[in-house]
Amino acid sequence: MSANPFQKKAGSLAAPKILAEYLLSATGPEHFPKEELPEVAFLGRSNVGKSSLINALLGQKALAFTSSKPGCTQAINFYRVDSTYNFVDLPGYGYARVSKDQMLEWKKLIESYLIERQTLGLSVLVIDARRGWMAPDLELKRWLEAHGKPRLVVATKMDKLKNQSEMQQCLKSLREGADEAMLCSAETGRGVREIWQAIMTKTQGSQ
Ligand code: GDP
Repeated sequence: MSANPFQKKAGSLAAPKILAEYLLSATGPEHFPKEELPEVAFLGRSNVGKSSLINALLGQKALAFTSSKPGCTQAINFYRVDSTYNFVDLPGYGYARVSKDQMLEWKKLIESYLIERQTLGLSVLVIDARRGWMAPDLELKRWLEAHGKPRLVVATKMDKLKNQSEMQQCLKSLREGADEAMLCSAETGRGVREIWQAIMTKTQGSQ
């Protein structure tokens, strides 16, 4: 397999320029692409900013689907990154208007991916910097821990924190839930480079 694409990206000062393409959307394991490349999966509540974060990491404006309608993405979206990795956008959880049946479907789909996917190298749990840990985020974090899945916690929308003291407060409460929680903004690009570094470190060995 070719060299880690993140290595050269993280070394550059500008936002990483990466060759990325949309692969497919899967509503069940039968649609998942062949297990060839290591995968980085993004998880989080609906509307938390997952797709925007993927776009920011890939230096793209609109590759990953962003939506102002929370809960509308019920498929797993796969993106190929530099022909070396797949980025995987998992459907958001915790949207109030979703029925119990839809919630169960969601669980089934996500778990089928997280449990069975042999090429899953890292799960990025995305939370909202302003809101901090919410019950479903903690539940998912514990689930990942219980299943021994490598993970990275990222709090996004940090541009919405008004000042340094809000930032410190946010970091403190984030780190009560996870030692290594990182802050970023897809809007300003702040923290994106550091997230690349963390992804790179945590996926070493899965290539
Ligand atoms: P997803 O449902 O988790 O994929 O969330 P999206 O990426 O579609 O984002 C949901 C909304 O939050 C959109 O209106 C985005 O423009 C907005 N958003 C996402 N990331 C940021 C961010 O870092 N800062 C700000 N201010 N808004 C953001």
